[in-house]
Amino acid sequence: MAESHRKALNGTNRETIRTGLSEESIRAAFLDNLFYLQGRFPEVATLNDQYKALAYTVRDRLLHRWVATTRAYQKANPRTVCYLSAEYLPGPFLGNNLLNLGIEEPTRRALAGLGIELDALLEHEEEPGLGNGGLGRLAACFMDSLATLQVPAIGYGIRYEFGIFDQVIRDGGQVETTDNWLRFGNPWEVRRPAIAYDVRIGGYTEQTTDAQGRFGVRWVPNEVFNGIAVDTAILGHGVNTVNLLRLWTAEAAEGFDFHAFNRGDYYGAVVREVRSETISKVLYPNDEPEIGKRLRLLQQYFFVTCSLQDMIRIHRTTGQPLDKFHEKFSVQLNDTHPAIAVAELMRLLVDEHQMGWDAAWEVTRHTFAYTNHTLLPEALEKWPIPLFQNVLPRHLEIIYEINARFLDEVRLRHPFDTARVQRMSIIDEAPPRFVRMAHLACVGSFAINGVAELHSRLLKETVLRDFFELWPEKFQNKTNGVTPRRFVMLSNPGLSRLLTRTLGAGWARDPSQLRVLERHADDAAFQQEWREVKRSRKEALAARILDRCNVSIDPDSLFDVQAKRIHEYKRQHLNVLHIVTLYNRIKFNPGLDITPRTFIFGGKAAPGYAMAKLMIRLINAVADVVNRDPDVAGRLRVVFLPNFSVKLGHGLYPAADLSEQLSTAGKEASGTGNMKFSMNGALTIGTLDGANVEIREEVGADNFFLFGLTAEEVVRTLAEGYRPWDIYNANLELKGVIDLIASGHFSHGDRTVFQPLVDHLVWHDNYLLLADYAGYIACQEQAGLTYRDSRQWTRMSILNVARMGKFSSDRTIAEYCRDIWRAEPMAVDV
Ligand SMILES: *Cc1c(COP(=O)(O)O)cnc(C)c1O
Repeated sequence: MAESHRKALNGTNRETIRTGLSEESIRAAFLDNLFYLQGRFPEVATLNDQYKALAYTVRDRLLHRWVATTRAYQKANPRTVCYLSAEYLPGPFLGNNLLNLGIEEPTRRALAGLGIELDALLEHEEEPGLGNGGLGRLAACFMDSLATLQVPAIGYGIRYEFGIFDQVIRDGGQVETTDNWLRFGNPWEVRRPAIAYDVRIGGYTEQTTDAQGRFGVRWVPNEVFNGIAVDTAILGHGVNTVNLLRLWTAEAAEGFDFHAFNRGDYYGAVVREVRSETISKVLYPNDEPEIGKRLRLLQQYFFVTCSLQDMIRIHRTTGQPLDKFHEKFSVQLNDTHPAIAVAELMRLLVDEHQMGWDAAWEVTRHTFAYTNHTLLPEALEKWPIPLFQNVLPRHLEIIYEINARFLDEVRLRHPFDTARVQRMSIIDEAPPRFVRMAHLACVGSFAINGVAELHSRLLKETVLRDFFELWPEKFQNKTNGVTPRRFVMLSNPGLSRLLTRTLGAGWARDPSQLRVLERHADDAAFQQEWREVKRSRKEALAARILDRCNVSIDPDSLFDVQAKRIHEYKRQHLNVLHIVTLYNRIKFNPGLDITPRTFIFGGKAAPGYAMAKLMIRLINAVADVVNRDPDVAGRLRVVFLPNFSVKLGHGLYPAADLSEQLSTAGKEASGTGNMKFSMNGALTIGTLDGANVEIREEVGADNFFLFGLTAEEVVRTLAEGYRPWDIYNANLELKGVIDLIASGHFSHGDRTVFQPLVDHLVWHDNYLLLADYAGYIACQEQAGLTYRDSRQWTRMSILNVARMGKFSSDRTIAEYCRDIWRAEPMAVDV
């Protein structure tokens, strides 16, 4: 044992080493873990050894509360929320757990005493990229808020071996590399080999009769594999509640289907084993218009059946009969990815637990609630029947039965309206015929919600209109939120300290207290401190950008940031049109006095989404030319920060002055990036879309840069025969911008590179960039002018933070608990 280790342990009681929160016991536990778990002594420990030793030290302190929570839940048998989501984007755990345990400072000191910097270990952590973007991040914010509000909950999902790809920019374009996040092991997870369920696939069904002469159906699968639980503790902030994030990993089922062994086909069996493990191998992109990927359907069914079987197991430990299942659990479907749960719960109850159809349907339709996340018709999931039948033959029968009964109900309500029956059917009859997952979710759920006021209204008026007419009482709105712990306290400690010094510490749990800031909005001394906080975040980001991208940027310039998935509806290319507009203005008028700006982009494009990848190419091409051009130096800079993630977001949201929220009105369901920026004092330039509408309502129209058509105007414009070509010809400045891109100015003279993008804009432009262009440019000019008045800008920034309390995910979760889940908080003592 190393001398330093022995010294550190000297005089420290072993129990306090395991769980104590003081600097001394954290240091002793760290050394202990370094020695016993990593087999290292401090002098030879690598950064990764140190990171893991600290992670285990922190996990030990969670386990204690985890066990206490499990005990308390077992004893009290509380109503439990189950959140079913194919994606979770939790971000790095270490910093968040230190924060929620309240031991960041003693930990920092404990490590400093060993000559180790906490920040280096925080930086070292690789985050689990088990999601694409907003939807997965929402699930993670909800898990944080559920634990913080002390609501008994389990998050169920998939433990992808490879998460969202890593993005590298090579020659100006996106290149995907695999995200091997488990390479060095994951200290936060606990594998539970005893919690495992059979998952059947394919085969056929047959009629059976039991000894009492009752009919039944037997599903004879042609493949069976196992789902194993892998758990991660989710600790609430300042409470003892530790909820479970239970992710499923696929393995070959032992002794099943491996008749191969009997035939001596050992290698064939091993190959099948490998194949079953591919089920949880990789996360799919969410915004590739791809239908019919068999593996994706397998993944959805895989995690849903494991989760429901797990709930049934837990329910049975309570001694209650299965017809009370819905009294124990409320199950939220995060989009339609888990919607197969409606058919699967019916199958489990009817086929496996011999419940009658009507009783099973009563349980099912009182168990599920469905959150819709998109109005884009191409993004509504549907599965071709041949594929569905091949993978889930029994579920197809069950869906036909659910559909037959449902359509009878529609016919009773609307006699002679066959068009309506066809529209509402769970089956789309257009060849090859499809299962419409959103319809299955609507029929099987007692509540249906959108994720912002506008989105929920549009759902009722458009994609789910027929369902709204049938069941208006099912429809609700639950405006999204984000956790102020991760996105303010953790990622912006300087702002947090200023807020706590000014308001007291209560704001992080009760952000309505932020309103008190309004009193300080015009206070010159406070404004100065406010600007210093922002300035320090901008300097930190500038240092990171210099390091990562080798571009130097000026922290005094306006940081104009757009960070989110790259998508045509999010309109990063509208932002580019503005950049090229400023570029042209300076080129024509070299003395032009404009507010110096740094444009910062981040975001991944789905690997198969060609136009989105071309947008990345355009941003990098424009950056390349602008950053090299001495004529615009000191006034314009453009940076594409590769591999946007939660971790990068920590550095990005606090450093932004201006938040770009440019989606075509009616297309973004809510957005949550908009909330993170504004909570960190960035002002928004945005359209009346998603939650932007409510953010503007809260912060006040004077403190928000609004532009663009409304959702209604967008629909009308398109319906009246939109002609972008005419706008292009009528607006000389716009024409100059588009012509410059088309001329090859940003592509070494090659006119072909951006031609698809340019042609699309001038001839189709379904996302109405040209219609919104002039308004956007004028609004940007206003924003630039306002930035020069730093007292006015700072005032607006303070008022944004003061009035963003509504967008804490605690508020969202409290509403779900009250209006949908009927779940109550339950305090846990340790
Ligand atoms: C918040 C977040 C998003 C969502 O951003 P939007 O602007 O709402 O689309 C996507 N990715 C990451 C990593 C995030 O943290």
